[in-house]
Amino acid sequence: MSVAIEVEDLHYRYPDGTVALRGISFIIEEGQCVGLVGPNGAGKSTLLQHLNGLLPEKVDDQLPIRIFGQAIGPDNIYEIRRQVGVMFQDPNDQLFCPTVFEDVAFGPRQQMLSDKQVDERVTDAIQRVGLRGLENRPPHRLSGGEKRRACLAGVLACDPRILVLDEPTADLDPRGRREFKELIRTIELTRIIATHDLDMVAELCTHVMVIDGGRVVGAGDPRLVLADEELMLNHGLEVPHYLRHHHPHGDVG
Ligand code: ADP
Repeated sequence: MSVAIEVEDLHYRYPDGTVALRGISFIIEEGQCVGLVGPNGAGKSTLLQHLNGLLPEKVDDQLPIRIFGQAIGPDNIYEIRRQVGVMFQDPNDQLFCPTVFEDVAFGPRQQMLSDKQVDERVTDAIQRVGLRGLENRPPHRLSGGEKRRACLAGVLACDPRILVLDEPTADLDPRGRREFKELIRTIELTRIIATHDLDMVAELCTHVMVIDGGRVVGAGDPRLVLADEELMLNHGLEVPHYLRHHHPHGDVG
């Protein structure tokens, strides 16, 4: 099994002086589905933005981040962005074309593919996320769940090796959340999901990483880490319902 992401002692301070990451280290192996959890302001978004070169603002030197063995640096930032597909928090930031088809085609069109290849990528991605028949719909006329799926199709159509999802289910109703979760389960890429939905992490993820104050404060098997009530409470989280029901020593709280 190869290492997809390796981060070693990553620090980051925003230009206004706010320190967001204080020495983050971890390894994610290819094919893992990792939940990234922690209270608001923990540094989750800041970390995710480092994984595809959106932060730091300027890369003069190699970063302590390796993607499939390659340290992110000034020479490979565009290649890294192609390998690490990010679905942002707000779908409205990602959907801006007149139709679903055009939105999903936007990324592949930047990749020097033939029209036929772009068409194939788009058709395949739309099929994978279950949006067939809605290709010509204007994105603003999709439901919340459909918008999320259109964003995901746009990311998948770029053929990334790693999929990063920032709060993918925040605005969905329970059915939308369930459907989106099932969809993520079918995608066999290395996945990192930042979320407050700890039940989703318990059900879906192979690993979890808890961060707080810009540091990793816990990591491992979600069923063990998320069931650790003291760890959860100390970092503004709570043991998910899913584990309260399924945990062998059930009645925590
Ligand atoms: P999370 O995604 O876990 O909620 P963030 O990565 O958004 O956390 O934030 C980490 C820290 O960085 C917080 O203290 C937050 O206030 C700060 N921060 C986030 N974005 C900016 C920014 N653009 N400028 C300055 N500080 C920021």
